[in-house]
Amino acid sequence: MIRSLLLKATSGYIDGKWCAADSERTQPVMNPATGETIAFVPIMGRVETNRAVAAASRTLATPAAIEQRSAWLFRLADLIALHRDELGRIITHEHGKPLAEAQAEADYAASFFRYYAGCVDQLKPQQLAERPRNHTWTVYSRPAGVAALITPWNFPLAMLAKKFSAALAADCCCVIKPSSKTPLSLIALFSLIEQIELPPGKANLVLGPAGEISDALCEHPAVRVISFTGSTSVGKKLVANTAPHLKRLALELGGNAPFIVFEDADVDHAVDQLMSNKFRGAGQTCVCANRVYVQQGIADTFAEKLIARVNTIKVGNGLEAGVTMGPLIDRKAFNKVQRHVADAISQGAVRVAGAVPSEPQPNEGCFFPPTVLRGVTAAMECVNDETFGPLAPLIEFQSEAEVIEAANRTEYGLAAYVFTASDERAARVISRLSFGHIGHNTGSGPTAEAPFGGMKHSGFGREGGFEGLHDFIETQTLSFFRL
Ligand code: NAP
Repeated sequence: MIRSLLLKATSGYIDGKWCAADSERTQPVMNPATGETIAFVPIMGRVETNRAVAAASRTLATPAAIEQRSAWLFRLADLIALHRDELGRIITHEHGKPLAEAQAEADYAASFFRYYAGCVDQLKPQQLAERPRNHTWTVYSRPAGVAALITPWNFPLAMLAKKFSAALAADCCCVIKPSSKTPLSLIALFSLIEQIELPPGKANLVLGPAGEISDALCEHPAVRVISFTGSTSVGKKLVANTAPHLKRLALELGGNAPFIVFEDADVDHAVDQLMSNKFRGAGQTCVCANRVYVQQGIADTFAEKLIARVNTIKVGNGLEAGVTMGPLIDRKAFNKVQRHVADAISQGAVRVAGAVPSEPQPNEGCFFPPTVLRGVTAAMECVNDETFGPLAPLIEFQSEAEVIEAANRTEYGLAAYVFTASDERAARVISRLSFGHIGHNTGSGPTAEAPFGGMKHSGFGREGGFEGLHDFIETQTLSFFRL
């Protein structure tokens, strides 16, 4: 069992109090590197969710001043920074990623609270020009209402930080539901939230499998916003389930990122960027390269350099020193990567890095060797579906027009990367790519200051930047006539 000062309770948090499920039922949390049970958390359902929504609705009736919200956000950023090592340890225990990566996730989470603490001022009422005479206009940014925040397991702390920081800046009250695979990072966050003394009901944590909880959140009339990060299939279910209730949805969904390297690119730099982009979190990130397009003239050099680097990755338990890549989250994730590799090889691709994975044993982690395939073609599953694992499929291309067409041939539109020394070419290609986040000569992901989100089936809404506040704000316009 995991022990931590930040996990004195392993419970939900409703109306300012830690609480178990009414049924007292619990479910285990596993360490994916060892298969061990590290904690038990409550299985909550509709009753607890409705109680959390009621507490949030009540608190919504008492607005918090902008200065107060800014102070809460700064304080939470400071507390996360202070406890980044311990938060990282908890993330690694339940997700498996290497400790340094997990601690960087805590830093990243803190950056969102700090960013919104600094820009919440921009939500002050805006006066418009007097028009017609004696007629004044004021635009208010009101909180959109109770916000349900549903998050995935791949960044257990950061995905919530993006939403919660913006929601708190907008003065929403929140009901938060983490992935049932990784609830501990948010329980730890709530032990810090407790210290900033939010009003009871401002932030509530409900734990358990999605079913009853998400149904209650979709149906409850007081919930006005659902901000969801996760798979496209669940995102579509949320669209259907909330349609009768006309709720606002912000959807951060799956990706199928193309990573395009032209012949004039700096190959060493491109390989370097691909390494950190692709293998962070064992390839379980929405922004990581899913398809690597390399122009023919540099294909052999690029592959050689990439293989050499991939062979240096040390796979293991993220808590052990020197480990640079952890396990996959579970057997289902392992099977998917294995299926994509097998499908590609059966259609003529060649495995040029990565051993054949050994079958995971019960009570052991699901470790998949970082793998590079050459000779990958458009018909293969790994090109058309998000692998969400440590597989880099290399696809050769000849012309700019050909690679633009191939990159866009997907229903997803989250992240894309273009490596070229030519600014003209970059501008041309980028303007034709249908992806919300594009890296030019960089494989790095979003920051708190920059709006991030997807096009097409990767969702709608933006997180980060001033745009990240839009999902949590209702604009109210006052027209006033001076008698
Ligand atoms: P998931 O299976 O869709 O689960 C995400 C969250 O939704 C979890 O809390 C899950 O709860 C909950 N959920 C499951 N079924 C639900 C339903 N019917 N209604 C409402 N909520 C439901 O996704 P995941 O496997 O955790 O995450 C991986 C996916 O997230 C990938 O596709 C990745 O690309 C995407 N992602 C996108 C972004 C982005 O910014 N666009 C960022 C990170 C990840 P339970 O755990 O209890 O099932």
